[in-house]
Amino acid sequence: MLEFETIDINLTKKKNLSQKEVDFIEDVIIVGSGPAGLTAGIYSVMSNYKAAILEGPEPGGQLTTTTEVYNYPGFKNGISGRNLMLNMREQVVNLGAKTFPETVFSIKRKGNIFYLYTENYIYKSKAVIIAVGSKPKKLETLKNSGLFWNKGISVCAICDGHLFKGKRVAVIGGGNTALSESIYLSKLVDKVYLIVRKDNLRAIAMLRDSVAKLPNIEILYNSEAIEVDGKSSVSLVKIFNKKDNVVYELEVSAVFMAVGYKPNTEFLKGFLDLDKEGFIITKDVVKTSVDGVFSCGDVSNKLYAQAITAAAEGFIASVELGNFLK
Ligand SMILES: Cc1cc2nc3c(=O)[nH]c(=O)nc-3n(C[C@H](O)[C@H](O)[C@H](O)COP(=O)(O)OP(=O)(O)OC[C@H]3O[C@@H](n4cnc5c(N)ncnc54)[C@H](O)[C@@H]3O)c2cc1C
Repeated sequence: MLEFETIDINLTKKKNLSQKEVDFIEDVIIVGSGPAGLTAGIYSVMSNYKAAILEGPEPGGQLTTTTEVYNYPGFKNGISGRNLMLNMREQVVNLGAKTFPETVFSIKRKGNIFYLYTENYIYKSKAVIIAVGSKPKKLETLKNSGLFWNKGISVCAICDGHLFKGKRVAVIGGGNTALSESIYLSKLVDKVYLIVRKDNLRAIAMLRDSVAKLPNIEILYNSEAIEVDGKSSVSLVKIFNKKDNVVYELEVSAVFMAVGYKPNTEFLKGFLDLDKEGFIITKDVVKTSVDGVFSCGDVSNKLYAQAITAAAEGFIASVELGNFLK
């Protein structure tokens, strides 16, 4: 199996303007190598388009940071996130796509050609598929959370909730993500503690109403999770109640951080229309505000952020690419 080439890129440092233009023009350049980008690559080359994938700072995407993936179809006993992504990469390379260990820090259009600037080169293409994903925000203030990563600390209830069936878990956050994750978990676990810093919930009314109807979700307002502890995995979380000025412990098997996502779109500001959180605004699933630039996966789909939807949108982007290039 081909291994990922890891690269160390600091986007802010790479603004030198001495890059060389490559001497080829691709039909499409795909920015990002998670499930969205690699699937867009698979379908693009199978439709006979010349495609290059610029893999970015996290080759293989977010799934390379997790252990087992049990919900991606086709693997009856699950598969490690890393191996799933290595397989996808090998598949797209075998089909004829080029991959480059490059991170894009700017895109411009001159006439009908897009110019994608990386540290050393300027890549050129007739169309662009953006698949740069997003990052779940982590609560750096939660002591020991790094120690228990994948051992009870999670950022994805849909991915990891099944590991805690019948147990007690905590969810941190008071917005839409936290309430959705709590509702999902309430069907699997014995009890969900929803730990909310303020004295109210920011989430939309529909989610607040759903949570209120679920007897196994207990909301702890004015509360901050300050530390997790356990032996080989999480067994407790310490809570600071600001109103009563007390610290106490809750016995839980997992803590889900649900404080939102940050899309990797800094470099697209001013080039594409983004919403107020920075997600790419799309219509017809994958069309962006610039003709010939398509978006797929977590960078524009904040409601259904999973590998399967990212891959599906990669396919849709390749169909719209075909409609654009014909
Ligand atoms: C810990 C964890 C566990 C998860 N478990 C599951 C699971 O079990 N099942 C499931 O379905 N989903 C799971 N998910 C969610 C899943 O990983 C995402 O929904 C999916 O990876 C999104 O795919 P994507 O291709 O849109 O983006 P990503 O996978 O985030 O890939 C983004 C790609 O863009 C590249 N990139 C970023 N910026 C640039 C740039 N400037 N230039 C070039 N490239 C760039 C990165 O290098 C990366 O390759 C999990 C997520 C996490 C964080």
